[in-house]
Order: sequence, then structure tokens, then C-alpha cells
Amino acid sequence: MTAHNTNWDNEHFFHPWEGMETLGQNDRAYIEGGEGIYVRNDRGERLMDGPAGMWCVQVGYGREEIADAMADQARQLAYFSPFNNTSSISTRFAHEIARRAPGDLNNVFFTTGGSTAVDTAIRFVHFRNNLMGRPEKKIIISRQKAYHGSTYLAASVSGKERDRLWLDKADHLSHFLPNVNPLHRSDGQSIDAFLDEKIADLENAILTLGADKVAAFIAEPILASGGVIVPPKGYHKRCLEVCHRHDVLYISDEVVTAFGRLGHWFASEDVFGIQPDIITCAKGMTSGYVPMGAAIVSDRLIADLTGMGATFSNGYTYSGHPVSAAAGLKSMEIIERDGLLEHVQALSPLFQERLSSLQDIDIVVDTRGMGFMGCVECSADGSKDALLDQDYAIGALIDEECQKRGLLVRPLINMCVTSPPLIMSADQINQMFDILETGIKTAADRRG
Ligand code: PLP
Repeated sequence: MTAHNTNWDNEHFFHPWEGMETLGQNDRAYIEGGEGIYVRNDRGERLMDGPAGMWCVQVGYGREEIADAMADQARQLAYFSPFNNTSSISTRFAHEIARRAPGDLNNVFFTTGGSTAVDTAIRFVHFRNNLMGRPEKKIIISRQKAYHGSTYLAASVSGKERDRLWLDKADHLSHFLPNVNPLHRSDGQSIDAFLDEKIADLENAILTLGADKVAAFIAEPILASGGVIVPPKGYHKRCLEVCHRHDVLYISDEVVTAFGRLGHWFASEDVFGIQPDIITCAKGMTSGYVPMGAAIVSDRLIADLTGMGATFSNGYTYSGHPVSAAAGLKSMEIIERDGLLEHVQALSPLFQERLSSLQDIDIVVDTRGMGFMGCVECSADGSKDALLDQDYAIGALIDEECQKRGLLVRPLINMCVTSPPLIMSADQINQMFDILETGIKTAADRRG
């Protein structure tokens, strides 16, 4: 093995969302290890991991129990084909997930991550409509600012403007509703009126496109990488009613919100009071220790297809991978044993209170969040008008200032996001927000 070479990143690692101008010219630190809520880099720094990797390291880093469960499974049975056979551990994981999923969502289709979970959900919806003799019913309604993944289909239903600029999409299969962020409601518009407008947006889209053409509505309960956008109270229930009134399926993309981020296994029912037709999940499912995702499909949808002699020709070599299932089961066990759902519920008020107090800083125009998810949105001069122009540098500046003080945050253009490991204590939450506050103020001063 050759010694570690600090140029390998620039020479060989083509990163997700890599800027073509900066490819090969980055100055990234190498992350070498992690313990609890901290990661260590090759510059000798220990950083509190504000984003929990990418919203995923629920139980924190360095869990020997998970490493042991994965190693034991790899020794016993590293892999077996999920196509005509199965590994016993993946069936156990499917059972444990279904047991916690809402209502009759009992059919767990394992994937390799969130994008393939979304892809699978859409392919299943299309497959079902083909079999039910309505091949024209294919359009997926999504929303501006949504992120559902990076396969061709998942990207086609993702609505972040900048991500849609340079790549092709299956535009004939998607339709986007306007932003559901209450911050962008018109002057003097009440939240209730804004909610009515958002529900009307959905219903009008179905009526205009034709219910015979619209297959499903896909929605993150809280739009995560779009900037932690929390739709108004009652939104999810009313959307579900509209969908079902027009025979449109509801896919709840819980890749970020499931497995404890909002203090529940799944947020759809326990937080927002809905039983969707399909839930997609990934990330926290294995606490990010190893890749895995799932599309969980309701019994009712499956029942419609029995007796038709069809095969759902979709799947992955690594669907239900035994080592991923072992990591997922152990992570679930830890969340349960250590009371992490209750912990998040108990500390969310502190988290959200500290988050909203950042609004007092001049350049902060909005703070929003729920559970262990939070976002700070800034604008050049603290006004909503400037926000619309988007200040591209400020999120990265805040991250830089926070890192100097021992905290990683996730910069998103003019925003920064935090979604820490679920094990974060009250003291650590306070420490994180103290640093974030200083980081924002210093970044603001640097911009002048
Ligand atoms: N759906 C949502 C809501 C996400 O936030 C993401 C990733 O951030 C995905 C899907 C895609 O998941 P993955 O990156 O595991 O493919």
C-alpha cells in the first residue's frame, strides 16, 4: 500500500456536486475518524458534526456494536442474491421496519440508497398503472426546492433550480408546484390563506394536467436540502385528501425525516398525521454506517396487482444486503435501547429555541426547523427582497467561521443547515448554537 498522498483527492476523486472550475484545485481536509458527535481530520482538528454526515449518522460515530454486527454478518454471510432467494437477516430487517411503518405499509423493497428508493417508488407506481390499464397516468407532481435524488428519475422530480440547469430530465413525467415556504407568502397574506393557496396549487395542477394523467404526488414531509422548509400546519393532511379524491398516490419521501430525526421512526403519521401510499427512506436507516434505502409500499397497492401474472422487473444486486441489514438492525436497537426518539422529543424545544434566537442577528432573515433539523437563512442586508437575489457566498463563509471554532455546518447557498446526530446532549446543543451564532456574526462582519 502506498503512503497517503495529499493530492489524491484533486487527482482522482470526482465528488458529488463538483464544480467544473474547481475540480482538481480543492483544498479539502481529509476526515480520518469519528467518535460520538465529533469527527477528526488530518489537520489535527476535532469538529462537532452539525450535519451528522449528510443527515444520517443518527447514533453517532464509532459505535463498536454496529461495527461488530457488520463484521459478524460479513463472516457468517457477506452476501446472497436477493432475487430468487434471501438472507435471513434482511427478512428480519424488513419485518422490523414494517412493524414501525404506518398503517398497511408492509412491503419493504430494499434499495441501495435514497435515490434508488425514490426511483423504485416511481417505477412501481408506473408499473401499477400499466397493469391497471391506464398507461397514460404517469405524471409525478413535485414541488420547487424539493430534492429526491440523483438517478435520472429521482432528479427529474427534484425541483432545485440550480440543479436543473445543466442536466437532462424526464420533463414529460414531472410537474412542479410553487414553493411551499411560508416565508415567501405575499405581503399581508395570512398563514391560513397561504395554506389554502398551496392546497389549491396541488388540486389545480391535478385538474389542469388531468387526473387521468397524474400518477402521484411526491413530497418530503419537510423539504430538507431545499432549506428545511416546513409547510404550514395541516398541509400534509389536506394534500393527502386532495390526492385521494383524485385517485393520485401520495409518496412521502422520508429519506431524511425517518429513523428519529423528528423524534419518531417515521414522521408521516406520528408528526403529520398521514398514512401515505408509499414511504421512501434511507440515510438514518443504517445510521449511515453502510448504504441502504427502501421504498415501503402499502398492502392495498400490492393487492390491486395480484392475479395479473406480472413481474416487477426492478431491483438491485445489493437489495437487502446482509451487512447493511445487520448495521440497520443494530442501529435500530441502539435508538430503541438508548431512548433516542424520546431524547430528540425532549431536547427539540431547546434546539428550536436556540435556533430561532439567531433571528436577532442582522443578516438572518429566517430560521426554521423541527426536531433535530434546523436552517438559518441570510440575506445581504437582512431584507426579504435581497434574499430573492440570493447571496451565494454567505453559507460557505459561515461554515468557514464555524469550522475555525470547532463546528461543521452544511452551507446551502445563502443558508446553513444543522441536523446533528440524535445523541447530542443539551450542553452540546448549546455549544453548537453558541458557535453558530459567533460564526454568523463574524461572517457578517467579514462581508462588511
Ligand atoms: N430524498 C431526499 C429527501 C434526500 O434528502 C436525499 C438525499 O439527500 C435523497 C432522496 C437521495 O438519497 P441518496 O443520496 O441516498 O441517493
